[in-house]
Amino acid sequence: MLNPPLFLNLGGSVAICTASLFDFKVCNRYMSKASQSRPSSLTRKHTGKAKKYVFAFGSKTDGNASMRELLGGKGANLAEMASIGLPVPPGFTISTAVCTYYYDHEKRYPTALKKDIVTALKQVETQLGKKFGARQNPLLVSVRSGARDSMPGMMDTILNLGLNDKTVEGLAEASGNPRFAWDCYRRFIQMYGNVVMGVRANSEEEEDPFHELLEKLKKSLTITSDTELTTEHLKDLVRQYKALIVRLTRGAFPQDVMQQLWGALGAVLESWKNERAIIYRQQYGIPSEWGTAVNVQAMVFGNAGDQSATGVAFTRDPANGEKVFYGEYLMNAQGEDVVAGVRTPHDISDMKNSMPKSYRDLINVRNKLERHFRDMQDFEFTIENGRLFILQTRNGKRTGLAAVRIAVEMQREHLISQKIALLKIPAESIDSLLVPVFDPKALKSATIIGYGLPAGPGAATGRIAFTAATAETETRKGNKVVLCRTETSPDDLKGMLHSQGILTSRGGVSSHAALVARQLGKVCVCGAGEINISYEKRTLTAGKVVLREGEYISIDGSTGAIYKGAIESADSEVKRVLERGLKPTSSLTYGLFQTVMKWADKYRSLKIRTNADTPEMARQAVAFGAEGIGLCRTEHMFFDGDRIDYMRQMILAVDEVQRRAALKKLLPFQRKDFIGLFKGMNGRPVTIRLLDPPLHEFLPHDDVVRRQLAEKLGVPFDFVIDRIKSLHEENPMLGCRGCRLGILYPEITEMQTRAIFEAAAQVVKGKKRIQVNPEIMIPLVGFKEELIDQLRIVHRVAREVMKAKKVRINYIVGTMIEVPRAAITADEIAKEADFFSFGTNDLTQTTLGLSRDDMGLFYDEYQRKEIYNQNPFASLDQTGVGKLINLAVEKGRTAKPELKLGICGEHAGDPSSIDFCHRVGLNYVSCSPPRVPVARLAAAQAKLRNS
Ligand code: ADP
Ligand code: MG
Ligand code: MG
Repeated sequence: MLNPPLFLNLGGSVAICTASLFDFKVCNRYMSKASQSRPSSLTRKHTGKAKKYVFAFGSKTDGNASMRELLGGKGANLAEMASIGLPVPPGFTISTAVCTYYYDHEKRYPTALKKDIVTALKQVETQLGKKFGARQNPLLVSVRSGARDSMPGMMDTILNLGLNDKTVEGLAEASGNPRFAWDCYRRFIQMYGNVVMGVRANSEEEEDPFHELLEKLKKSLTITSDTELTTEHLKDLVRQYKALIVRLTRGAFPQDVMQQLWGALGAVLESWKNERAIIYRQQYGIPSEWGTAVNVQAMVFGNAGDQSATGVAFTRDPANGEKVFYGEYLMNAQGEDVVAGVRTPHDISDMKNSMPKSYRDLINVRNKLERHFRDMQDFEFTIENGRLFILQTRNGKRTGLAAVRIAVEMQREHLISQKIALLKIPAESIDSLLVPVFDPKALKSATIIGYGLPAGPGAATGRIAFTAATAETETRKGNKVVLCRTETSPDDLKGMLHSQGILTSRGGVSSHAALVARQLGKVCVCGAGEINISYEKRTLTAGKVVLREGEYISIDGSTGAIYKGAIESADSEVKRVLERGLKPTSSLTYGLFQTVMKWADKYRSLKIRTNADTPEMARQAVAFGAEGIGLCRTEHMFFDGDRIDYMRQMILAVDEVQRRAALKKLLPFQRKDFIGLFKGMNGRPVTIRLLDPPLHEFLPHDDVVRRQLAEKLGVPFDFVIDRIKSLHEENPMLGCRGCRLGILYPEITEMQTRAIFEAAAQVVKGKKRIQVNPEIMIPLVGFKEELIDQLRIVHRVAREVMKAKKVRINYIVGTMIEVPRAAITADEIAKEADFFSFGTNDLTQTTLGLSRDDMGLFYDEYQRKEIYNQNPFASLDQTGVGKLINLAVEKGRTAKPELKLGICGEHAGDPSSIDFCHRVGLNYVSCSPPRVPVARLAAAQAKLRNS
């Protein structure tokens, strides 16, 4: 039997269980190696004209920040920084066109590429007076991937490329520091072996084989830090590493530097189609055609001694948006050391004392970057013997809260306009101002077991899971989990998606865990040093407290506190102000929320309505800013208490007399509900859809309940069984539902219309004289004759009631457009209708010929093969379903210019679908109450983006 409360929570068309829908977004199976190398069937004609594939940056710079499509985000910004005079080591970007070519041509490169690379390398050599592959003063480079939008799923950067047995000696001489040279060499072999030659851990539990050798050596020498290794130790390590590669692969570590470069280039291009990248693209709707660029850049060395360092900084706090310099660095370290969380780094403010000049340089860079890019920047730097270099900048990933705060404050600082500020806030971010926090009362009795860095705000409670796989299986079982790891790697992405929150014991606020959590909007506490996680024992230890996998833990990503056990959560401040009268002035979050909503309302032209069936839902939606109800599903009113019995009595009736008797009992309930809704909406329009789902949805499925029903109705058990059997349909969603019900049983339409108008009359004539604007909506119409049939009943009953009650009520009658025939014949239908509301859940099902309840079997495979860019039930299929909507809008408006148009499917809460609705010229979108703020912002963005 259907469970009523669950039923109420479901979005979209009734009787469709969408519980599994949201899993689709996050469930991905790992792809097999074989299918990764499937060549694209697309082939592109080769044009005769030589195409530019390589773009230099440095003393001569070809690109700029606007060329992200071609150069990727990293390459475009490196070029931009080089041209505004920031200290960027020179290099060049191999454009995304090469990636596209590579996949279109069975993994071959454009002919011209080789020559272009050689030329570009030469330019770098000349600028620095170094030579790639030369024994004397060798040039070393890094090879880095860089897609249009930065993607954590992509390949790890390769550093120190260009080292071999000969050049390492040259580097030792040039730097006068053999230890440093050999440290670079062993790092390079490890990275190259790992990324290009596939010598790496094969599962989460395994250690990296290079790392194992390093640890073994350190243990035998009884030292703890890498910095204690001498030149001789490092030379020994290099020998061991090379032997390891020979043992585990068929090849040897390449000594030819050009071969190294092409190997690295190939690995970057391959990583575009690895499983992590695909998962990430699915999550963010990034098309696989975009491809990645490859950046080759001269190395600078943060590991050159104690006046050297490497670090990451944010121009503002990415967790809460506050305007403070935020970041961290490691002394005498290189590249990924900071991001990977190998050692817990120092706070950037410590640099004031340890390297005061470099700190001042950094502050200058911070200011220059923000003024130039007019957004919060996340930048990477390296200090080589006291000289500062900037290696990357990008708009920093931030939490929803930070996105809002930064945009609002930058507008106040006159860095950006209101319009730009609005466009800079991802519409979904508004949601995170509404997320629950721990209940202050419950917190009083909770036990804190430690603190970490607050890296992703919000409150999360769940069972401890130590691996991504456990997180996934537990979530599938319906449990909530908190993923607890020493540190995370991109392979944990799936597990993170499945978790309420993420806790790590190592790594700073720019660690992988923190970065991804912020982006996914997950609660995150990281670098909790007092906490000890043992994968082997499956325990998490904090002082004397030992927690096992499966036990509850709670983390607060706004304060960094970690608690033992489960803690109740409570409403956000914004909700407390809106719904329970907390003083607005006492809440910073509410102030931000209000500002953004005010701006959004100023610019948007789409109206925002809500899908609400109860006065409570309506009230919440109005508090969030809803301007009307766009969909009230009347069937939801038939489940409570006795109503379901009368409903069943109505369905089981054998003739009209019996049916009318049952409907008469339902009338007062329905009328009462409408009174509540009309009062709650206080004159705002209310769209009421007449009964829609197949009737069998209301009937009991198990015999015990069927027997009880027979007793209640005073009919034999067999009679109930027979009636249920006779109502059976093979495809109920394509069967007797929607307007077909009202055509078959006109008395249902009559009763519902009566309830609506009697309720309206009572409210209009009540003490408060509240205006009522009902909009009656006929579902599933495909033929204009269906609509005409139902219209007759509605108008007749409306007249009768208004006459009897002596009132005039302004009402309109329209239809849903949710089958293709309705869209195709929209001109005919429009002549009869006052409005159209696009029911995009059903319209997607009927257009794609796809039941969303039955997607489970193949959806994973579709996702893996990237056949659907996005789940068509979550984000509108604009090229397919969208065409039908467009057609219906044009035909409808041609036949009746004043036709009112809206959408009430689940897509109405999805920002990119809202953008579409704006572009086709709908009047309103109607989404679930909690999505109303997101929709308001998305509607404003749609307007600004398209005008
Ligand atoms: P990601 O996209 O993961 O941030 P990057 O390509 O930015 O990867 O590289 C990671 C790190 O490698 C950088 O933070 C930087 O410290 C280091 N790195 C990259 N290129 C160079 C270079 N030319 N010289 C020194 N370090 C570099
Ligand atoms: Mg429908
Ligand atoms: Mg980087």
